[in-house]
Amino acid sequence: MTQTAPTTPARADDGQRRFASLDPRTGEVIGHHVVASEEDVREAVRAARDAAVFWAELGFDGRRARLDAWRKVLLKRLDEFQVLISAETGKSADDARTELALVIDHLHWAAKHAPKVLGKRKVSPGMLMYNHAATLEYRPLGVVGVIGPWNYPAFTPMGSIAYALAAGNAVVFKPSEFTPGVGVFLAATLGEVVPEFPVLQVVTGFGETGAALCTSGVDKLAFTGSTATGKKVMAACAASLTPVLVECGGKDPLIVAEDADVRAAADGAVWGGIFNSGQTCAGVERVYVADAVYDEFLALVVEKAKKLRPGGEADAHFGPITMPKQVDVIQSHVADALERGGRAVVGGLESIRPPYVEPVVLVDVPDESTAVTEETFGPTLVVTRVADADEAVRRANSSAFGLGASVYSRNRGEELADKLRCGMVSVNSVLAYASVPGLPFGGVGDSGFGRIHGEDGLREFAYAHSVTRKRFGALLNPMTYDRGSRTIRHVVRLVRVLYGR
Ligand code: NDP
Repeated sequence: MTQTAPTTPARADDGQRRFASLDPRTGEVIGHHVVASEEDVREAVRAARDAAVFWAELGFDGRRARLDAWRKVLLKRLDEFQVLISAETGKSADDARTELALVIDHLHWAAKHAPKVLGKRKVSPGMLMYNHAATLEYRPLGVVGVIGPWNYPAFTPMGSIAYALAAGNAVVFKPSEFTPGVGVFLAATLGEVVPEFPVLQVVTGFGETGAALCTSGVDKLAFTGSTATGKKVMAACAASLTPVLVECGGKDPLIVAEDADVRAAADGAVWGGIFNSGQTCAGVERVYVADAVYDEFLALVVEKAKKLRPGGEADAHFGPITMPKQVDVIQSHVADALERGGRAVVGGLESIRPPYVEPVVLVDVPDESTAVTEETFGPTLVVTRVADADEAVRRANSSAFGLGASVYSRNRGEELADKLRCGMVSVNSVLAYASVPGLPFGGVGDSGFGRIHGEDGLREFAYAHSVTRKRFGALLNPMTYDRGSRTIRHVVRLVRVLYGR
């Protein structure tokens, strides 16, 4: 079985360059998509401007009705969508279904909560401004550009798309060159229930198409991908002061404390590290285990991981590596760990058989190894023995990344979670936060900034609009040249009385 990258673009009869989307399991062509040029992207953004006006004027109730209708179309066509996701990524049917269940849940949450989170509300004017009424609302930005990855080609971009739409924006989406069909499917299904204007458009192509979106005049750019590309996106957006949201993945730790349920921790580590072939931005990559339970934990991890096999069948434990060049990254990290004195207790370099990588569990890996410092994005785990949970926290926090983390402890879970420098933590489970639509998702450091999901995720695609209205004249008015110095003395006295104690 061979693994191939999307084919070199060819020009079709209509003069447009096209590229093929391939099934990474077989190399079979699934479809052809346009390589959108800079002008194509600008045209999409121009069309999105009119769509944004229409969409904003629908108001929260009008938008909710359309987004709810979209959710129902997606549910009705779930099997078809799952087959497409599995074909473009190679992921198992169940991994694709899990992804789609989360898409539906988030779409529902965003549409339902947008009015309460973003709608106009009164704000207390405070003691000094008692004669004014104050209101706040969050208005749509206009047109939001979304650049998405291939690992969760529906769930990850929908963390931006659903929330941006619910906030009243039109969206232009550039999917990964490995999963263009998923983007096209999303836009087409929304078009079925919003036929009037293209509130979600897709521009397919390669990195240059994404780069063109950054400079196309969008009002915000939401990017998910590597830290290196995230920096390029931010630099390109800086020229026009276009705000950015950057979600760049991580090197997420899992901590097993002395008082952990060791069996549950081993189960969480193996699933969190290996599901979706390890191609999860918040997947488990580093595991720090307290000395007291290390041997028991490692034996369980080895037993579980050895039973898992990748494959192209619908019921395989996990699928291939979607992006061919990622295999080289995984290989180099495993090789680096072994060269620096690490040991493979499950698999090894021989586990890497493109397009599949079998589970690899590494121990005794020095902290300087790329297997510890860089995102591997493969079905690998680095398990490290530490004295206790406190040392585990220190080692976990030593990474440049800070996306998510997991803690297994019967009594100290939340205390240890509070000490971790990262955006999200699951206690006694892995990745649970991603399935709670009300919780913001995003990281710190090299994992990026800004948040998708939850109230923060809605506000990320809106701007605050504050209004005061004078209701009656105040006894003291310092904001006039008629005020006299007595007024200011009274104001200062009032401030002292109010806040001096
Ligand atoms: P990239 O960061 O290269 O690509 C992510 C997205 O950005 C894709 O849609 C890509 O388009 C687009 N893009 C590429 N270059 C530019 C540019 N100059 N300007 C604007 N957009 C651009 O990630 P890869 O897919 O190559 O994966 C590399 C690594 O990134 C992985 O090994 C993994 O570590 C990390 N990653 C993290 C993800 C996460 O969930 N946080 C998701 C995916 C990857 P195209 O695909 O067409 O090149």
